[in-house]
Amino acid sequence: MELEYGPEYELFRSEVRQFLVENWTKPVADGAIVEAASFRRQATAKGYLYRGVPQRYGGSEQPADPLKARVIREEFTRARAPREIEGPGVSMLVPTLLAVGEDWQKDRFVAKTLAGEYAWCQGYSEPHAGSDLAALRTRGEIVDGTWRISGQKVWTTLAHRAQFMFALVRTEPDAPKHLGISYLLIDMNQPGVTVRPLRQMSGGREFNEVFLDDARTPADWIVGARGAGWQVSRTTLRHERDLVGGAGATEDAFRKLVELARDARCDGRPALESEDVRQALARIEGYVLAQRFTSYRQMSLELAGQDAGLSGLLNKLNGTEIGHSMANLAQELIGSYGLLTPAPKGERGPEKWIGQIMGSLGVAIAGGASNIQRNIIAERGLGLPREGGAQS
Ligand SMILES: Cc1cc2nc3c(=O)[nH]c(=O)nc-3n(C[C@H](O)[C@H](O)[C@H](O)COP(=O)(O)OP(=O)(O)OC[C@H]3O[C@@H](n4cnc5c(N)ncnc54)[C@H](O)[C@@H]3O)c2cc1C
Repeated sequence: MELEYGPEYELFRSEVRQFLVENWTKPVADGAIVEAASFRRQATAKGYLYRGVPQRYGGSEQPADPLKARVIREEFTRARAPREIEGPGVSMLVPTLLAVGEDWQKDRFVAKTLAGEYAWCQGYSEPHAGSDLAALRTRGEIVDGTWRISGQKVWTTLAHRAQFMFALVRTEPDAPKHLGISYLLIDMNQPGVTVRPLRQMSGGREFNEVFLDDARTPADWIVGARGAGWQVSRTTLRHERDLVGGAGATEDAFRKLVELARDARCDGRPALESEDVRQALARIEGYVLAQRFTSYRQMSLELAGQDAGLSGLLNKLNGTEIGHSMANLAQELIGSYGLLTPAPKGERGPEKWIGQIMGSLGVAIAGGASNIQRNIIAERGLGLPREGGAQS
């Protein structure tokens, strides 16, 4: 197995590094957003960000090159420089619009979403439709040339900050359940939309219930055809799984866990000197490395133009499982600090782990719960018989 990047990519790495040295200075509190925005514009002009997005929509339109993409991710992470804006608008809606949207929809939404001017939320889950998403009941019908939408969404991340929602809505009530759904774009700032925050056990408020009560949206704010929303949403979810499954993020978290073990005390000594802690860390590191090499395999297949198959799903599943093991060990290491909820703001000690420990439970559910991933891997990867009922 060849694990070197080769001279061409090492040269590219030096270019990226040089660009970062010249253009990225760490932001100070208030200037952070402005500085990040102008830095992102420069990085996009150099071809480092939004590589798959055409220039006319605000991207850098680079030929697909997973090795370059990896070098960029490594160098930006090392320099702690901002990469693409995070959130479902950039990571989920934009790729979906580019794949199946109308030209006017791309013109209207993509560039402003990449620039952070438009924030989106994902309106899929409902009180009775999570893993079995196709059971969703929110209804939409055309009345006087406009969609009117009524129903309820739940667990809608950052809906309270979003200008728009991309939502799955039942528009063909007589069709079989997967064929009766449309993918609609909805303006959140209107009388028919009510956002109610859900308070988390960590004390945070990132999720919401969203009530749609005769909400309106123009007839052409539909992505794909009427009734094709299920297929359209599959494009979006694939991107979400890839997003959650990054091996780099797992390695980063593991490095921080080792730092925590170095700082934390166990029987009056650094926890890292404890035999039990060392064994637990070594066990986790085995999985971290396995995920890294699986991601190399995925990348090699993509470079060879082959389908990486279920490795995106495996990545997501492994990443969340490892994250959970790391969180459990972190919880043991921080001891009674773990009882502090909500986590004290701005703390730099062990308390900063509290949010991550609790968050690791959510990541195993968001974007397709781990059990559902296992079902899909078993059925499509191992060829086991299909389970009735739940959908992925
Ligand atoms: C951090 C976070 C962010 C989220 N953000 C959003 C968002 O922005 N927008 C949005 O629309 N939704 C969001 N969700 C919701 C998420 O998509 C759902 O929680 C998820 O699909 C699971 O649905 P559910 O909560 O209804 O659980 P259920 O589907 O009721 O599942 C409960 C448990 O049963 C298991 N289970 C269910 N069916 C099966 C089966 N057939 N076989 C084996 N086990 C099964 C599941 O694995 C799970 O452990 C978010 C969730 C989390 C945790």
